[in-house]
Amino acid sequence: MPYKKVEEYNIQVTDDVKDRYKNIIEDLGENTDRDGLLKTPERAAKAMQFLTQGYHQDPVEILKGAMFKESYNEMVIVKDIELYSLCEHHILPFFGKAHIAYIPNGHIVGLSKLPRIVDVFARRLQVQERLTEQVLDCINDTLKPQGVAVVIEASHMCMMMRGVQKQNSITTTSGFRGQFEKIETRNEFLKLIGK
Ligand SMILES: [Zn+2]
Repeated sequence: MPYKKVEEYNIQVTDDVKDRYKNIIEDLGENTDRDGLLKTPERAAKAMQFLTQGYHQDPVEILKGAMFKESYNEMVIVKDIELYSLCEHHILPFFGKAHIAYIPNGHIVGLSKLPRIVDVFARRLQVQERLTEQVLDCINDTLKPQGVAVVIEASHMCMMMRGVQKQNSITTTSGFRGQFEKIETRNEFLKLIGK
């Protein structure tokens, strides 16, 4: 059988959230019996489960599943990792890019795992500052590298569409551990990601 993508949703959660969305849409002044909206509460319930699936995933297990003994001890960088998350204050999206670097200390990790770690922590209700710390700490505590660095640049819909309505502002957060606390190493990383 060829590849088949399967999405699974908890039926109980979908039903509960669907009913609540129906109420919310009506409270906002819409008619949920309108043709285009008939299946919207259910679709929204599924979309929200997808966007918060990180609560049910184990980032440590993901990293540990792809750690390999290796003597390489230069900087490894994965940059421009697409990132989509939800601001926990308004439940509106924030999105942008993450850049991650680490210096191995006997182990390397499968490169695709770093974007997956970003997804696990991004697919929750978040603030950009905590997201940065969680990615940083997870890699630091699990891989135990000589150093790790994380930079996240993101645009926040809650700033762009409401509130101050600043469409072009980008928020940057960063965190550094181990070797990256040294200014030369940190600067080399920032130069390599074009900062
Ligand atoms: Zn917000």
